[in-house]
Amino acid sequence: MLPRLVAFDLDDTLAPSKSALDPTMIDLLVKLLGVTEVCVISGGQFGQFQSQIIDNLPEISTDNLARLHLMPTCGTQYYRSDDQGWTQVYAENLSDDQKARALGAVEQTARRLGYWESETWGPILEDRGSQITFSALGQAAPVAAKVGWDPTGEKKNALREAVQALLPDLEVRSGGSTSVDITRQGIDKAYGMIRLADLTGVGLEDMLFVGDRLDENGNDYPVKVLGVECIAVEGWPDTAALLEDLIPRYVTV
Ligand SMILES: [Mg+2]
Repeated sequence: MLPRLVAFDLDDTLAPSKSALDPTMIDLLVKLLGVTEVCVISGGQFGQFQSQIIDNLPEISTDNLARLHLMPTCGTQYYRSDDQGWTQVYAENLSDDQKARALGAVEQTARRLGYWESETWGPILEDRGSQITFSALGQAAPVAAKVGWDPTGEKKNALREAVQALLPDLEVRSGGSTSVDITRQGIDKAYGMIRLADLTGVGLEDMLFVGDRLDENGNDYPVKVLGVECIAVEGWPDTAALLEDLIPRYVTV
Protein backbone atom coordinates (compact mmCIF):
# COMPACT_ATOMS: atom_id res chain seq x y z
CA MET A 1 0.00 0.00 0.00
CA LEU A 2 1.38 3.38 -0.98
CA PRO A 3 0.88 6.25 1.49
CA ARG A 4 -1.81 8.77 0.48
CA LEU A 5 0.23 11.42 2.27
CA VAL A 6 3.95 11.60 3.03
CA ALA A 7 4.94 13.92 5.90
CA PHE A 8 8.47 15.10 6.53
CA ASP A 9 10.34 16.74 9.34
CA LEU A 10 12.34 19.69 7.93
CA ASP A 11 15.75 20.17 9.62
CA ASP A 12 18.14 17.26 9.06
CA THR A 13 15.45 15.36 7.16
CA LEU A 14 14.83 17.49 4.04
CA ALA A 15 17.82 19.82 4.47
CA PRO A 16 20.72 20.49 6.82
CA SER A 17 19.51 22.48 9.84
CA LYS A 18 18.18 25.95 8.85
CA SER A 19 19.60 25.55 5.32
CA ALA A 20 17.97 25.59 1.89
CA LEU A 21 16.93 22.31 0.34
CA ASP A 22 19.47 20.86 -2.06
CA PRO A 23 18.30 21.06 -5.72
CA THR A 24 18.20 17.24 -5.77
CA MET A 25 15.72 17.26 -2.90
CA ILE A 26 13.64 20.06 -4.47
CA ASP A 27 13.40 18.00 -7.65
CA LEU A 28 12.28 14.91 -5.71
CA LEU A 29 9.70 16.90 -3.69
CA VAL A 30 8.22 18.33 -6.89
CA LYS A 31 7.99 14.81 -8.35
CA LEU A 32 6.35 13.54 -5.16
CA LEU A 33 3.78 16.38 -5.31
CA GLY A 34 2.90 15.06 -8.76
CA VAL A 35 1.78 11.72 -7.28
CA THR A 36 0.58 12.29 -3.69
CA GLU A 37 -0.13 14.72 -0.83
CA VAL A 38 2.94 16.04 0.99
CA CYS A 39 3.30 17.68 4.39
CA VAL A 40 6.29 19.33 6.03
CA ILE A 41 5.97 19.66 9.81
CA SER A 42 8.62 21.33 11.98
CA GLY A 43 9.11 23.17 15.24
CA GLY A 44 10.41 26.08 13.12
CA GLN A 45 8.33 29.03 12.03
CA PHE A 46 6.90 29.85 8.60
CA GLY A 47 9.85 32.08 7.68
CA GLN A 48 12.08 29.04 7.72
CA PHE A 49 9.71 27.11 5.45
CA GLN A 50 9.86 30.10 3.13
CA SER A 51 13.64 30.37 2.93
CA GLN A 52 14.37 26.64 3.03
CA ILE A 53 11.57 25.35 0.73
CA ILE A 54 9.19 27.86 -0.91
CA ASP A 55 11.84 30.28 -2.21
CA ASN A 56 13.61 27.37 -3.92
CA LEU A 57 10.60 25.78 -5.60
CA PRO A 58 10.44 26.06 -9.38
CA GLU A 59 7.22 27.05 -11.20
CA ILE A 60 4.85 24.14 -10.70
CA SER A 61 1.16 23.72 -11.41
CA THR A 62 -1.36 25.17 -8.93
CA ASP A 63 -2.86 21.69 -8.54
CA ASN A 64 0.44 20.14 -7.54
CA LEU A 65 1.32 23.02 -5.23
CA ALA A 66 -2.08 22.64 -3.55
CA ARG A 67 -0.95 19.16 -2.43
CA LEU A 68 1.72 20.73 -0.21
CA HIS A 69 0.67 21.16 3.43
CA LEU A 70 2.98 23.29 5.59
CA MET A 71 2.82 23.00 9.37
CA PRO A 72 5.21 25.36 11.19
CA THR A 73 5.58 25.20 14.99
CA CYS A 74 4.40 21.59 15.19
CA GLY A 75 1.12 22.18 13.40
CA THR A 76 -0.11 25.02 15.60
CA GLN A 77 0.04 26.95 12.34
CA TYR A 78 -1.12 25.67 8.97
CA TYR A 79 -0.39 27.10 5.50
CA ARG A 80 -1.71 26.21 2.06
CA SER A 81 -1.05 27.62 -1.37
CA ASP A 82 -3.83 28.92 -3.64
CA ASP A 83 -4.27 31.54 -6.37
CA GLN A 84 -3.31 34.23 -3.83
CA GLY A 85 -0.02 32.55 -2.88
CA TRP A 86 0.69 31.09 0.55
CA THR A 87 -2.13 31.64 3.04
CA GLN A 88 -2.24 31.01 6.76
CA VAL A 89 -5.28 28.81 7.35
CA TYR A 90 -5.01 29.03 11.16
CA ALA A 91 -2.63 29.85 14.03
CA GLU A 92 -3.08 28.93 17.68
CA ASN A 93 -1.03 31.30 19.79
CA LEU A 94 0.07 31.32 23.44
CA SER A 95 -1.50 33.95 25.73
CA ASP A 96 0.62 36.95 26.84
CA ASP A 97 0.80 35.52 30.37
CA GLN A 98 1.96 32.12 29.09
CA LYS A 99 4.60 33.78 26.91
CA ALA A 100 5.95 35.93 29.75
CA ARG A 101 6.22 32.97 32.13
CA ALA A 102 7.87 30.77 29.48
CA LEU A 103 10.46 33.41 28.54
CA GLY A 104 11.25 34.10 32.21
CA ALA A 105 11.58 30.43 33.20
CA VAL A 106 13.85 29.39 30.35
CA GLU A 107 16.22 32.37 30.70
CA GLN A 108 16.45 32.04 34.47
CA THR A 109 17.14 28.30 34.23
CA ALA A 110 19.68 28.55 31.40
CA ARG A 111 21.60 31.19 33.39
CA ARG A 112 21.52 29.08 36.55
CA LEU A 113 22.84 26.00 34.72
CA GLY A 114 25.55 28.01 32.95
CA TYR A 115 24.02 27.50 29.49
CA TRP A 116 23.33 31.19 28.79
CA GLU A 117 26.03 31.93 26.18
CA SER A 118 27.37 35.45 25.66
CA GLU A 119 28.65 34.84 22.10
CA THR A 120 25.69 33.90 19.91
CA TRP A 121 24.46 34.11 16.33
CA GLY A 122 21.32 36.15 16.85
CA PRO A 123 18.90 36.15 19.81
CA ILE A 124 18.71 33.13 22.13
CA LEU A 125 14.99 33.53 22.80
CA GLU A 126 12.32 33.81 20.16
CA ASP A 127 8.57 34.39 20.37
CA ARG A 128 7.07 32.30 17.57
CA GLY A 129 3.47 33.13 18.51
CA SER A 130 2.35 29.62 19.33
CA GLN A 131 5.78 28.65 20.66
CA ILE A 132 8.65 30.13 22.67
CA THR A 133 12.01 28.82 21.47
CA PHE A 134 15.36 28.78 23.25
CA SER A 135 18.33 28.34 20.91
CA ALA A 136 21.53 28.05 22.96
CA LEU A 137 23.77 29.70 20.34
CA GLY A 138 21.15 31.90 18.66
CA GLN A 139 18.81 31.28 15.74
CA ALA A 140 21.47 31.67 13.06
CA ALA A 141 24.26 29.56 14.59
CA PRO A 142 26.25 27.48 12.10
CA VAL A 143 25.68 23.72 12.16
CA ALA A 144 29.25 22.91 13.29
CA ALA A 145 28.99 25.19 16.34
CA LYS A 146 25.63 23.68 17.27
CA VAL A 147 26.91 20.14 17.00
CA GLY A 148 29.84 21.02 19.28
CA TRP A 149 27.77 22.71 21.96
CA ASP A 150 25.92 19.64 23.21
CA PRO A 151 27.06 16.49 21.37
CA THR A 152 25.37 14.10 23.82
CA GLY A 153 22.16 16.12 24.26
CA GLU A 154 22.85 16.21 28.01
CA LYS A 155 22.62 20.01 28.42
CA LYS A 156 19.45 20.29 26.39
CA ASN A 157 17.75 17.51 28.35
CA ALA A 158 18.79 19.00 31.71
CA LEU A 159 17.44 22.40 30.67
CA ARG A 160 14.23 20.86 29.36
CA GLU A 161 13.56 19.00 32.61
CA ALA A 162 14.31 21.98 34.86
CA VAL A 163 12.15 24.38 32.82
CA GLN A 164 9.30 21.87 32.66
CA ALA A 165 9.26 21.74 36.48
CA LEU A 166 8.70 25.53 36.54
CA LEU A 167 5.92 25.47 33.94
CA PRO A 168 3.57 22.62 34.90
CA ASP A 169 0.73 23.97 32.73
CA LEU A 170 2.89 24.24 29.59
CA GLU A 171 4.85 21.69 27.59
CA VAL A 172 8.66 21.96 27.34
CA ARG A 173 10.24 19.88 24.63
CA SER A 174 13.63 19.29 23.11
CA GLY A 175 13.67 20.83 19.61
CA GLY A 176 16.65 20.86 17.24
CA SER A 177 20.25 20.11 18.26
CA THR A 178 20.54 23.09 20.65
CA SER A 179 16.94 24.18 21.08
CA VAL A 180 14.11 23.80 23.54
CA ASP A 181 10.53 24.61 22.57
CA ILE A 182 7.73 25.68 24.91
CA THR A 183 4.12 25.35 23.77
CA ARG A 184 0.67 24.78 25.19
CA GLN A 185 0.30 21.30 26.63
CA GLY A 186 -0.25 18.51 24.18
CA ILE A 187 1.38 20.37 21.27
CA ASP A 188 3.94 18.23 19.49
CA LYS A 189 4.25 16.72 16.03
CA ALA A 190 1.64 14.09 16.95
CA TYR A 191 -0.81 16.95 17.60
CA GLY A 192 0.04 18.39 14.18
CA MET A 193 -0.42 15.02 12.46
CA ILE A 194 -3.87 14.58 14.06
CA ARG A 195 -4.85 18.09 12.87
CA LEU A 196 -3.52 17.19 9.44
CA ALA A 197 -5.66 14.04 9.29
CA ASP A 198 -8.73 16.16 10.21
CA LEU A 199 -7.90 18.86 7.66
CA THR A 200 -7.12 16.56 4.75
CA GLY A 201 -9.45 13.63 5.43
CA VAL A 202 -6.46 11.32 4.99
CA GLY A 203 -6.35 8.82 7.88
CA LEU A 204 -3.21 8.41 9.97
CA GLU A 205 -3.02 4.79 8.74
CA ASP A 206 -2.66 6.09 5.17
CA MET A 207 0.27 8.36 6.04
CA LEU A 208 4.02 7.88 6.12
CA PHE A 209 6.27 10.06 8.28
CA VAL A 210 9.99 10.62 7.66
CA GLY A 211 12.19 12.17 10.35
CA ASP A 212 15.70 12.26 11.80
CA ARG A 213 14.71 12.37 15.48
CA LEU A 214 12.48 9.36 16.03
CA ASP A 215 14.55 8.32 19.06
CA GLU A 216 12.92 8.61 22.48
CA ASN A 217 14.30 12.12 23.20
CA GLY A 218 13.65 13.36 19.67
CA ASN A 219 11.04 15.84 18.49
CA ASP A 220 9.75 13.34 15.89
CA TYR A 221 9.15 10.60 18.46
CA PRO A 222 5.51 11.58 19.28
CA VAL A 223 4.55 10.72 15.68
CA LYS A 224 5.90 7.21 16.13
CA VAL A 225 4.03 6.83 19.43
CA LEU A 226 0.86 7.94 17.63
CA GLY A 227 1.17 4.82 15.46
CA VAL A 228 1.90 6.49 12.13
CA GLU A 229 4.23 4.43 9.94
CA CYS A 230 7.64 6.08 10.34
CA ILE A 231 10.97 5.89 8.57
CA ALA A 232 14.09 7.17 10.37
CA VAL A 233 16.77 8.99 8.38
CA GLU A 234 20.10 10.51 9.38
CA GLY A 235 20.06 13.40 6.92
CA TRP A 236 18.57 14.55 3.63
CA PRO A 237 20.62 12.15 1.45
CA ASP A 238 18.86 9.24 3.21
CA THR A 239 15.51 10.91 2.49
CA ALA A 240 16.49 11.44 -1.15
CA ALA A 241 17.36 7.73 -1.49
CA LEU A 242 14.02 6.82 0.05
CA LEU A 243 12.13 9.04 -2.44
CA GLU A 244 14.13 7.71 -5.40
CA ASP A 245 12.67 4.33 -4.44
CA LEU A 246 9.15 5.46 -3.46
CA ILE A 247 8.15 7.80 -6.32
CA PRO A 248 8.45 5.23 -9.17
CA ARG A 249 6.18 2.88 -7.19
CA TYR A 250 3.29 5.38 -7.56
CA VAL A 251 3.88 5.64 -11.27
CA THR A 252 3.76 1.88 -11.88
CA VAL A 253 0.61 1.27 -9.80
MG1 LIG B 1 14.85 17.22 12.46
